[in-house]
Amino acid sequence: MSKQETPKIAYRFGDGVYLNITNRCPNLCAFCIKTKWHMDFHGNNLNLQGNEPTAGEVVAALDEELKKAPFKEVVFCGYGEPTMRLDVLLFTAQTLKGWMAQAKYPPFQIRLNTNGLGNLINHKNIVPELRRVIDVVNVSLNAQNETVWRQIVRPAAGYEDGYEAVKTFLRDCAQAGFARVVASCVDQTGADAAAVEKIAKEAGAEFYLRSFLDAQN
Ligand code: SF4
Repeated sequence: MSKQETPKIAYRFGDGVYLNITNRCPNLCAFCIKTKWHMDFHGNNLNLQGNEPTAGEVVAALDEELKKAPFKEVVFCGYGEPTMRLDVLLFTAQTLKGWMAQAKYPPFQIRLNTNGLGNLINHKNIVPELRRVIDVVNVSLNAQNETVWRQIVRPAAGYEDGYEAVKTFLRDCAQAGFARVVASCVDQTGADAAAVEKIAKEAGAEFYLRSFLDAQN
C-alpha cells in the first residue's frame, strides 16, 4: 500500500524533479522496482491508476514543485516509459525550455530516462523532436544481445525484436548532438556488463552500471 493516497506527477529525488507521466511500459523488466515497491518511490505514490495527467496538469504540477526548492535537473522518469506519451513529453519539455529562456528558474538540465523503444512505440524516428527540447538522454541498454535482452526486459508482444531498435535509437541519439547520451546496464541480472559497455561506447554513448537495488528506467 502506498504511503500517500494522491498520486504524484512531479516528485523529488536527489537534485532532480522527476515526472511521472504514465505507468504504461512495453517491458516488464526483471529488475523493475515498481512492482517490488508497490508503485511507491521513497514515500511518493506513483500509481496513476490509469488516470494519466494531461499536458496542462503535468506543467502545473511541475511548476508548483519547482517553486518549492532548488533543483539541478528535470527528469522524465516515473513508473512507466515516458515516450509512451510523446506529445505530453515534448509539450512539457518545450514549456521548460521557454521557462529557461525567460530565466524563470536558475539554470537546469532536462533529462529523459527511456527504455529506448520510443521509435517502435511511436512508429517514427523521434530523435529529432527529442533533440530540440531534451539535453540528456539515458537509455536502458541492459544486454549484450537480443536473447539476453528478452530475458531481462521481458518485452510485450510486438516488441520482442526491439533490441536492435534500442541500439539504433542509442546510436542515433549519440550522433544527434545531445549534451550527454548515457547507456545503462543493471548489475546482477546476468548481463555481461563489459560487453554492454563496449556496445555503448561503439555507439558513441557513455556507459553507466546501475545498482539492481534501485533500478527503474
Ligand atoms: S524498468 Fe523501466 S523499462 Fe523496465 S519495466 Fe520498469 S518502467 Fe519499464
